[in-house]
Amino acid sequence: MRDIQMVDLKSQYQFIQKEVAEGMAEVFENTSFINGPMVKAFQSDLEAYLSVKHVIPCANGTDALQIALMGLKLLPGDEVITTDFTFAATVEVISLLKLKPVLVDVDPKTFNIDPAAIEKAITPKTRAIIPVHLFGQCAAMDAISDIAKKHNLFIVEDNAQGIGATYTYANGTKAKTGTLGHVAATSFFPSKNLGAYGDGGAIFTNDDDLAHFIRGIVNHGMYKRYYHDVVGVNSRLDALQAAVLKVKLKYLDFYNERRKEAALSYSNYFKDHPNLIVPFRLGDCKSHVFHQYTLKVVEADRDALVDHLSKNKIPCGIYYPVPLHAQKAYADPHVDSAQFPVTKQLVNQVVSLPMHSELTTDQIDHIAAKVLDFFD
Ligand SMILES: *Cc1c(COP(=O)(O)O)cnc(C)c1O
Repeated sequence: MRDIQMVDLKSQYQFIQKEVAEGMAEVFENTSFINGPMVKAFQSDLEAYLSVKHVIPCANGTDALQIALMGLKLLPGDEVITTDFTFAATVEVISLLKLKPVLVDVDPKTFNIDPAAIEKAITPKTRAIIPVHLFGQCAAMDAISDIAKKHNLFIVEDNAQGIGATYTYANGTKAKTGTLGHVAATSFFPSKNLGAYGDGGAIFTNDDDLAHFIRGIVNHGMYKRYYHDVVGVNSRLDALQAAVLKVKLKYLDFYNERRKEAALSYSNYFKDHPNLIVPFRLGDCKSHVFHQYTLKVVEADRDALVDHLSKNKIPCGIYYPVPLHAQKAYADPHVDSAQFPVTKQLVNQVVSLPMHSELTTDQIDHIAAKVLDFFD
């Protein structure tokens, strides 16, 4: 059995080595290292895959979120509602732009932003909601879209963990995550479901004017060479990363299927255990692409389980150990932590097991056995 890793990029690479080398060679030959034909080709492949009009590649997922917000022309002090239980980048960009992050609690089953809590947090200054499709599970987009319409708010999806997931609306309409709001951001960090061999990110939108505005922002606010109409940034996807991503995009559905199969195998082991709660799936399991496979440990010592696994050479992760409202950088003395009963509990209960597209049956059986023997 191969060594067990949280993410096994090396095994994945072995299957695509030749195609990646060919793509990279093409970039070396044409020497368009920034933008150029390879980035364009990946961009249009991704537009077709997502059925979205515009993909705007950029340097990383955090930039993608920041640029998406810049595109909406919000003003300092405008409020942006997001989840208390996500990677810090989501709230970091709100603060960097001098907007006001308003954190709200999550649903204990899906770990995603709680629509009822969004509704309660709305004030006359609220301008946007950032739902995160956490761990690969779609946020409750029916309810979130209704709230956004009712209060005339933008929806900015943080799709860094959800690429390839399909959301099914209550009326049966289906669409890919990243196309469900006004604008979306994703990350191509190597460990993400669609990962580069370095940093990368992208913004998605169906709005032509917003796309045009954002294409200028990523390039120093230029719409005509050396004419700077707005204050922009320098955020580009480099062509070598685009070459890798173009190959991996072809396999994204396969990779996500492999993750779902692994999740199903894990859940078969754990679903009846009194101390373990397996990840919830919305009716249609297409809604979850298992960026992480995250268990809740109840009435047992989660940290002792983590120690037990690491003694057995099984890596695992705590995503995330501290709610954002309690992080030093984002703590707000005017906010009462009693508003976040769910995240405060989740940070002590969650544990994420190894999850990637190359997990073998042997590995899953072994990991499951070690998890279960902790409780014996
Ligand atoms: C990874 C991630 C980001 C940031 O992406 P980078 O490419 O690392 O900047 C933002 N939000 C979430 C939820 C993430 O998981």
